[in-house]
Amino acid sequence: LNNGIGSWPHRRLPKSAGRTALVCRGRTISYDELADRVDRLAAVLRGHGVRPGDRVAYLGENHPAFLETLFAAGVCGAVFVPLNTRLAAPELQFALTDSGATVLVYATSLTGLALPGSEGTAVQHRVRVDDGPDPRFTSTPPAEDVDLEEALAAAEPVRHDVPVTLEDPAMILYTSGTTGRPKGAVLTHGNVTWNCMNVLVDFDLASTDVSLMISPLFHVAALDMGALPTLLKGGTLVLEPRFEPGEALRLIEEHRATAISGVPTTYQLLAEHPDWATRDISSLTKLTCGGSAVPHRVLAAYEERGLSFTMGYGMTETAPGATTLPVRYSASRAGSGGLPHFFTDVRIADPLGEELPPGQTGEIQICGPNVIHEYWQRPDATAESFDAGGWFKSGDMGHLDDDGFLFISDRLKDMIISGGENIYPAEVEQLIAELDAVAAVAVIGVPDEKWGEVGRAIVTVRDGTSLTAEEVLGHLDGRLARYKIPKSVVFADQMPRTASGKIRKADLRKQFG
Ligand code: ATP
Ligand code: MG
Repeated sequence: LNNGIGSWPHRRLPKSAGRTALVCRGRTISYDELADRVDRLAAVLRGHGVRPGDRVAYLGENHPAFLETLFAAGVCGAVFVPLNTRLAAPELQFALTDSGATVLVYATSLTGLALPGSEGTAVQHRVRVDDGPDPRFTSTPPAEDVDLEEALAAAEPVRHDVPVTLEDPAMILYTSGTTGRPKGAVLTHGNVTWNCMNVLVDFDLASTDVSLMISPLFHVAALDMGALPTLLKGGTLVLEPRFEPGEALRLIEEHRATAISGVPTTYQLLAEHPDWATRDISSLTKLTCGGSAVPHRVLAAYEERGLSFTMGYGMTETAPGATTLPVRYSASRAGSGGLPHFFTDVRIADPLGEELPPGQTGEIQICGPNVIHEYWQRPDATAESFDAGGWFKSGDMGHLDDDGFLFISDRLKDMIISGGENIYPAEVEQLIAELDAVAAVAVIGVPDEKWGEVGRAIVTVRDGTSLTAEEVLGHLDGRLARYKIPKSVVFADQMPRTASGKIRKADLRKQFG
């Protein structure tokens, strides 16, 4: 990546020399320092045998070392593999074995996960980043693991000439695994760069932007929509290791942050925090949100303070931006995922791959320089995911309106077919979520003799409130066509979720279907 800290063959002064690149818990790193640390880390990685095309994995919360490892891998021509810190050890082993990473850089607070998780995998060298003790397991890192700071101090800040092209893989990102086993999406330098270009054009990022990273960098949205475009512009990233809404509100005030990004739950938790009303968050101009639909009530809390979201729709495979709804359309096109990003195209197709006209619902398909060419070592999944014309098949259903705005219905795999009618659970869930007592809701299809399939709502209730099935169904009465209204409501203590916080509907279907 440009700015002198990435995969350019020659060492040169970053354009943003002297400016602050990263702030993390009182520590400040300038662009010059970052470039120096990246070159040293690249030398350390090369010393551990990392060659072009090799994989380097990172396990840790938001921390400068995350980005340093990403850029150092790029300098070596290697492929960066970020790992979700909420994975269980066997899931970590899967990602490490599948990617074949030979070096694992990990945060010491996760030693208890990093050690069993890298056992029996291709990992030959572990580098530890001291971010404090391991609160979950109270494990101590083994002495043979390299200490990052010691290794950097001993390394030479010399950049080696490794040619890297836009076609070379930059990272392998695992999909959330909402619909099955996670797949490794291979993002090339071109995919990442073009996604950055989309963000720069569509979000008007400036070098004066201060982006508070409260979402984990190991998620594609925070990394590729937030962190990398901000650095490319020479802006500042404030890295917060763990999301805590009160602390996030304080940091926005302290750093006069201009940008934050998150999933709907992030925004909901901020607006529900006791400090929400008293903190000065007027510096915020760019709030970006994606991942799933936002409850209307959350949008309203921000509108009251004069803050609007830029909504986005995307997926790991599109690096990840596919469409975005500019703020000026947020009222007139409420509920829309927006227009395709500048360099990206979106269409709606029927099951035979024929393009559908505006207004008709079909599969959302995407093409553009930000779209991956393949899944890592999954030719089967790759072949299934692209049509003959090169369109990426998202597996999501939706339609375009006459002006090209995308409206997302739901995932094809979650669609319920009842008496020949298609029901998109997301529409039903959105209405049920309006009830104050509802903490989370998911609607699944259950077999029915008469209709083939009918909806069943699974609801978790907020602490200290109560709710009956009649109240849930009564709320839908008159707001939804009768066939869309679930035939039953089940109350659950909690929802099964993926490591990225999405509800695992396949598990719900097993449990409550
Ligand atoms: P897997 O592919 O492993 O089943 P996943 O699809 O959840 O997992 P991600 O790439 O993290 O993995 O998520 C992308 C998906 O999230 C999209 O395909 C879509 O279903 C959903 N999504 C993203 N943005 C939005 C949005 N704005 N509104 C509704 N759904 C969204
Ligand atoms: Mg997916």
